[in-house]
Amino acid sequence: MGGSGGVPGGAREWVDTLVIGAGQAGLATSHWLTKAGLDHLVVERRGRLGGGWNDRWDGFCLVAPNFTVLLPGMPYAGPDPDGFMSRAEVVDHVTEYAAAIGAPVRLGTTVTRLAASDDHLVAYTGAGTIHARNVVLATGPYQRPNVPAASLHLPGRIQQLHSHEYRRPGRLAAGAVLVVGTGQSGTQIAEELHEAGRDVHLAVSRCFAAPRRYRGRDTIWWMLQILLHGADVGHPFPTVADLPTPAARFGCDPHLSGKDGGHDIDLRRFARRGMHLYGRLESLDEWGYPRHVRGVTTHPGLYAVGLPWLHSEPSSVFAGIGADAAHIVEHIAGRRIGRHAGRTRS
Ligand SMILES: Cc1cc2nc3c(=O)[nH]c(=O)nc-3n(C[C@H](O)[C@H](O)[C@H](O)COP(=O)(O)OP(=O)(O)OC[C@H]3O[C@@H](n4cnc5c(N)ncnc54)[C@H](O)[C@@H]3O)c2cc1C
Repeated sequence: MGGSGGVPGGAREWVDTLVIGAGQAGLATSHWLTKAGLDHLVVERRGRLGGGWNDRWDGFCLVAPNFTVLLPGMPYAGPDPDGFMSRAEVVDHVTEYAAAIGAPVRLGTTVTRLAASDDHLVAYTGAGTIHARNVVLATGPYQRPNVPAASLHLPGRIQQLHSHEYRRPGRLAAGAVLVVGTGQSGTQIAEELHEAGRDVHLAVSRCFAAPRRYRGRDTIWWMLQILLHGADVGHPFPTVADLPTPAARFGCDPHLSGKDGGHDIDLRRFARRGMHLYGRLESLDEWGYPRHVRGVTTHPGLYAVGLPWLHSEPSSVFAGIGADAAHIVEHIAGRRIGRHAGRTRS
């Protein structure tokens, strides 16, 4: 297959091991490769180091305390082990790590395709091909923003952005803000917007809460003890083999914040302070039907008739349409009576 798909006239180089991605995972791999005396190259599509931390918002702080920053060869040794590095500090820390371990990083190099050749692998980049006996994928866990389908149905005048693009409250258009999802990004961004005086509506997902501190220690300190010493006392940290389903790999991390020295994130407290909480954001169901019970949709005043199995098998044919239509008209009439009754009362 030679250089097919490569850049015409582009360079063709050989390395023993190619690491794709210079975030903390790629750099930690580089550290151990160097220790083992193995030739390698780390390529990174960004023009700067710091990996995915560059994508966090301006006010971001680590969620796990600094004492968890245990990069091989350079565990955190700064003055504030119980603190939470800011975005800029984490980016700097990862950048310093690359220098400290002498990682052979080539920035601004995107691998666009990876192919197998006879006894090696070929990585295609904008500048040519890199041939390697081993390739390590360290391209990060949060590659592509996950945007709910409901976003497609929102009017174009509403500014929409993923948390990767969010930077600070002042960058959002004026008016109320709907934050979708209560993972670690959603809850912290909602809190920041609320504190900035924005009218915040929060669509809550399934993620769970955890106390920031337990028995005088950060919750993550306890988790770290299980990771480091659990096996010694018969409670090893779970591995992927212990998970109930493959989907469980993508479960949530607990609601916690490292902002202002670290604190709990409590959705009930958000509500008490005036944030509006809702359930999960949903649009049409997966079959394109509005969410409904016998044609009465979840949106007040919106009805559907004539859909297959709206209520029963004949719902979409002559024989069944009449009964379904009568049902929704009864509902419509009921709303009318309710409205008039409301007027009379007022
Ligand atoms: C809100 C939030 C809070 C978090 N808090 C913590 C915390 O407190 N502590 C903690 O340890 N973790 C935390 N995390 C998780 C942490 O951000 C990630 O686990 C970590 O950044 C992953 O490192 P990585 O090296 O695997 O990936 P990344 O940091 O994403 O690095 C991957 C690199 O690969 C590069 N790349 C991708 N594709 C290519 C390609 N085709 N060619 C070349 N280069 C490529 C990317 O540009 C990127 O720089 C948090 C995450 C979020 C969202």
